[in-house]
Amino acid sequence: MKNKTRVLILDDDDDDIFLIQELINDIDASSYVVESTNLPAEAAKILSGAKTDIVLCDYRMGGVTGIDFIKEQRERGDDTPIILLTGLNDRSTDEAALNAGASDFISKINLRSDTLDRSIRYALANTQRQRVFQSVLENVNAGVVMVDENLVPSVWNPEFELIVEYATGKRSDESTRAFLKMMLAEKQKLTVGNRVYEKKVSYTADKAMVLLLHDVTQHIEALREREAAKNKAAHLAMNCSLTGLPNRNSFVERIEAEIENAERHGYEFFMLILDLNKFKEVNDVYGHHTGDVLLKEVTSRFKKACRKGDFLARLGGDEFVAIQRCGPGAKDRIPELAHRLIECVGRVMHIDGIELQVGLSIGVAQYPQHGRNAEELLSNADTAMYRAKRQTSGQIQAFNEEMDRKIREARMLGQELRVAVDSGDIDVHFQTQADVETGKITGHEALARWTHPKLGIISPSTFIPIAEERGLITKLGQVVLENACKIASHWPKPLTVAVNVSPVQIRDSNIIEVVHRALVDSGLQPERLELEVTESVLIDDKVRALHVLRGLKNLGVSIALDDFGTGFSSLSTLIAFPFDKIKIDRSFIEDCNRNEQAALVTRTIINMGLQMGCKIIAEGVQTEEHITFLRQEGCQSMQGYLIGKPCSNEDLLIRMLRDISGKRAALARRLTA
Ligand code: C2E
Ligand code: CA
Ligand code: CA
Repeated sequence: MKNKTRVLILDDDDDDIFLIQELINDIDASSYVVESTNLPAEAAKILSGAKTDIVLCDYRMGGVTGIDFIKEQRERGDDTPIILLTGLNDRSTDEAALNAGASDFISKINLRSDTLDRSIRYALANTQRQRVFQSVLENVNAGVVMVDENLVPSVWNPEFELIVEYATGKRSDESTRAFLKMMLAEKQKLTVGNRVYEKKVSYTADKAMVLLLHDVTQHIEALREREAAKNKAAHLAMNCSLTGLPNRNSFVERIEAEIENAERHGYEFFMLILDLNKFKEVNDVYGHHTGDVLLKEVTSRFKKACRKGDFLARLGGDEFVAIQRCGPGAKDRIPELAHRLIECVGRVMHIDGIELQVGLSIGVAQYPQHGRNAEELLSNADTAMYRAKRQTSGQIQAFNEEMDRKIREARMLGQELRVAVDSGDIDVHFQTQADVETGKITGHEALARWTHPKLGIISPSTFIPIAEERGLITKLGQVVLENACKIASHWPKPLTVAVNVSPVQIRDSNIIEVVHRALVDSGLQPERLELEVTESVLIDDKVRALHVLRGLKNLGVSIALDDFGTGFSSLSTLIAFPFDKIKIDRSFIEDCNRNEQAALVTRTIINMGLQMGCKIIAEGVQTEEHITFLRQEGCQSMQGYLIGKPCSNEDLLIRMLRDISGKRAALARRLTA
């Protein structure tokens, strides 16, 4: 149901009240509730109480006028619309009525119901609009003021008063004017205390200026926060959160800028890939927290090693990258920075009460020789770094073309080797070992063979390192071992078989179990199996290696130290583990008849080995002189092309048969002679 309009009629003349009531009834009796009174005091009381929508007020009421009544009501804060009804029709009263706050001023003379209706509706609507406007003014988050050309305010809101007071310290007409002057001189934004206001000036139709001071503090704060968040996200996107160093993203950006710069200013630069040695172990053994602290410590040391203009970033994990500029034509030089980095990381660190020492491997690529973009440079520096990691001498390696070619070939071969290993295309050949004194065959060394579908026979010196790098050696080694044991189990006793075991197998696989299985499956007696290891097996994790070697020896197999004399810690290796046999590297045998030095070393090795209770075998025996020398020096066994080149088991059997039949024939000849 539509709300009824409550009308209060204030008139000292009851006839007039009646007349007006009739007019209202004529409009629509059902939508009005009419009350009336003759006394202004009574009307004021009604207005203070129950809700009245509109007052129809007589102008002349004895001693008081309707204007007086309006003024009083307005002073009380009552904004109920009041329409003045008058018997006169004079313009100055009309003006006075409007100024006092009357909604309308209409003549009672000839008043018609439609005129009254229209006046009531307009008054109600205007008041409504006024109220909305008032509420907006009071609640808006802005100071609003309307001033005339002399900057005298006519309308303003509480917020404006507050701003003036805050800005000038007082609330007076003077301070308001001073504030307005300052305000108009301001460009766009005004800071008052810790608030920021945005100024908007507009003009009404009668040229009054309306000034709006919009409080934008919150927006500015929000903007600032958003900006800060954006900056932080950008920082995180470009920096490693652990070390604060630039990350891979910023590195890529930097390197592109560096290349541009280098081109423009005619310089070159080194790119260094830095990789910590044994970082994984630190993480595994001491936990990630220690790993993190270590990385921070390393970072701080790296930073100290860098000079102005050097650039350092963390690529991830324990991998870092550095850039150092150099003059044009710096040829295959190791940058000075590399040495400083190695030195600073090498010093002992105390982390979480633990004394730690990690090494560093560095690969160096040079712009522009080793790559014209970030990707190429990174890949080549990486290649050099891996080389540095593998080699035992020095931890810094500069990239070179040869390396590049080898890497490409190795990558290709690696893929093909995987297929060959998986499909059992690795064969075993055997090379005979014989007694120096009698020439009698004592056994054979198993040597892996790979016939590449296109490249033909590939040397194990080439494919074994690839297999080691690509994690294929475990399987390859196992295949060779199993086949060798199976084949050897059919040889006449007590012929032995020697099988090469890679350091990777010792380190990563359950080699003891594998050897045990191979023996059980083939039925070969353990004492007929000899495992050949090189001393590099003892470089990485000596304790573990010794443990595994002992375990193997406990199976009853014997252990030979291969390529002896080529390593760098030969004597200490010999002392560390009781090897059953020492295999003197063929480089010594080759030279022993020509070079006194080589002869001396060979002689020393033989004597030392014998003293330690090891058997001695010499490899690379190719001439009768070699045999004579070895016999003189007391070396027991030999292997080499003179005794026999590596061959398949079938060829070996034919050779052995021929050997036996040859001996028979000789025996027969001697008997018949
Ligand atoms: P190695 O263990 O020192 O094997 C001896 C190598 O010397 C063999 O090369 C053999 O053919 C060669 N050789 C033998 N007598 C002479 C000689 O009188 N003169 C010269 N110049 N060379 C001679 P091969 O078969 O090419 O093997 C190379 C290396 O590959 C081996 O050196 C060994 O380290 C590795 N290898 C071969 N098969 C295996 C395997 O099954 N497993 C592992 N882990 N490594 C293997
Ligand atoms: Ca060998
Ligand atoms: Ca050897």
